[in-house]
Amino acid sequence: MIKITLPDGTQKEFEQGTTPIDVAKSISEGLARNVISAKFNETVIETVTPLEEDGKLVLYTWNDPEGKKAFWHSSSHIVAQALEELYPGIKLTIGPAIENGFYYDVDFGSHTISEKDFPAIEKKALEIARGKHDFKMHPVSKADALAFYKKQDNEFKLELIGNLEDGSITFCDHDTFTDLCRGGHIPNTGIVKAIKILNVAGAYWRGDENKPQLTRVYGISFPKQKELTEYLTMIEEAKKRDHRKLGKELELFTFSQKVGQGLPLWLPKGAALRERLEQFLKKAQKKAGYEMVVTPHIGQKELYVTSGHYEKYGADSFQPIRTPKEDEEFLLKPMNCPHHCEIYKTRPFSYRELPKRYAEFGTVYRYEQSGELHGLTRVRGFTQDDAHIFCTPDQLDQEFKDVIDLSLYVLESLGFENFTAQVSVRDPETPEKYIGSIDNWEKAENAIIVAAKEKGLSYTIEEGEAAFYGPKLDFMVKDALGRQWQLGTIQVDYTLPERFDLTYKGSDNELHRPIMIHRAPFGSMERFIALLLEHTGGNFPIWLIPEQAIVLPVSEKHEKYAEKVLKSLENNEIRALIDNRNETVGKKIREAEMNKIPFMLIVGDDEEVNASISVRRHGGEDLGSITLEDFADLVSKEISSTLKSFKEN
Ligand SMILES: [Zn+2]
Ligand SMILES: [Zn+2]
Repeated sequence: MIKITLPDGTQKEFEQGTTPIDVAKSISEGLARNVISAKFNETVIETVTPLEEDGKLVLYTWNDPEGKKAFWHSSSHIVAQALEELYPGIKLTIGPAIENGFYYDVDFGSHTISEKDFPAIEKKALEIARGKHDFKMHPVSKADALAFYKKQDNEFKLELIGNLEDGSITFCDHDTFTDLCRGGHIPNTGIVKAIKILNVAGAYWRGDENKPQLTRVYGISFPKQKELTEYLTMIEEAKKRDHRKLGKELELFTFSQKVGQGLPLWLPKGAALRERLEQFLKKAQKKAGYEMVVTPHIGQKELYVTSGHYEKYGADSFQPIRTPKEDEEFLLKPMNCPHHCEIYKTRPFSYRELPKRYAEFGTVYRYEQSGELHGLTRVRGFTQDDAHIFCTPDQLDQEFKDVIDLSLYVLESLGFENFTAQVSVRDPETPEKYIGSIDNWEKAENAIIVAAKEKGLSYTIEEGEAAFYGPKLDFMVKDALGRQWQLGTIQVDYTLPERFDLTYKGSDNELHRPIMIHRAPFGSMERFIALLLEHTGGNFPIWLIPEQAIVLPVSEKHEKYAEKVLKSLENNEIRALIDNRNETVGKKIREAEMNKIPFMLIVGDDEEVNASISVRRHGGEDLGSITLEDFADLVSKEISSTLKSFKEN
């Protein structure tokens, strides 16, 4: 008999050679039906692998990431078989599961495949799946494995096998298909009920551009057709919400090859939007005791050598700027912190004057590889809503809590809900990776955790994720499609005060080192606006949106009255415009919908006579005919319900 321990701690005895499926059956038939993968003593095994010794067993279903991984990897075997049957003579290489689905890298020889071939591949793969073939792993000697692929003339698999130890090689069979594989499959092909080939792309063998180019076939599969349909709908929705697409449609920003890759150009509407966001944060920051500072876009190379940024960014980033003077070198600033340290140094401070909170919308430059650039989320020049707080160790707790309050205020005012916090702390096993005393680290980590708890944040603690200079707290947000994003960050730093020799005079009249907090509730203006676009699909909170209303005259003869309406809106500080093109109201409404304008104000004969407007909301709700005063009231109420002032309650 062997002793099997399950994740909940229960232990059960089984005959030697029992399988994970047997164990599942001993718990419930329902579980046995749903188990598709298993892990035994930290190794992924098949659901039918005999268990020969005592150990810990974890059973996975489709609802577990590990279950999905086995499901998608197994699907790659099925698709590989389909490809081999449809295109005889192709050479298979590797086929792993990925975050969403799987791929298989294939040498198609002289054949090329494209989107029009996908339905045939899907059909064939589904046919195979319906055969309910078991996945059967079996060991194979190195000689036999080599002979098998020599017959197929598959130099890729031969190379893989060449690197494997004799005695450790396994094949996986299902139906008539055999593949070199180390395991991790679902019980049989019949569980796969829906398969979709998503796209094809070029990929080099082993990711090396000097090696042959292969075709990467991407796919995804599900245990139910309905789940595939839902997934495809979500992908379509994600495409509609792509901030690059929306940014263009709403005329917020653009890029120019001539200006340079990764350097966004803000159009008037986008610049105004940024301005509103900045004013919003500046107002709250003023209340929270921050002082604005302004620093240049460049600094002497020495500044960044002192801060350590040159070491970190120097070689891989923008190179120093030369001047006519020999030995003089400047760098585009990769971070604002060194400049703020120098501001702190302009005069001595006593403990009574701390904390000092310096804030700046500071533009920084980092050279991202061109392949890494992506819309506004990965750029080469961006503006951080940066601030640095210099405080005493006694003040750290309170300062941290105040920064959390400010960050929560920002997230809530912009309609982000369901956020979580990620607290990154040291890995206690590798103290050499961090600088600063253990005592300070413990204090800082504690301060963060206590603050997160006290503020009622739902948080996770990630060991080993801290920066080398201090622990941090990041706000993670889920968007409407369930994707997770990192927004604001708060970091504790003991290093820069050391490197810049920053001090304050304590109550003991001695000089002490302040602690520095780096914080950015938005993160950067670029990234934040990108995420806000994808989160809201362009339907920004009304206080932020570029145009709050559009006046739509029914015909030319109502233009005068429409102008009067517009004037009155302007007097009430409502951002509005007029569409007096010679088009039907229906068409004007459709376009206003596209442009995500919250209120459409239709004016015709009746409205002119009654000095009113007919209000239609974005999305179609008809608010009927109301007076201009009532409309102004409505807008101002909506604004104050989404935008409270900081620390109002
Ligand atoms: Zn496999
Ligand atoms: Zn900083």
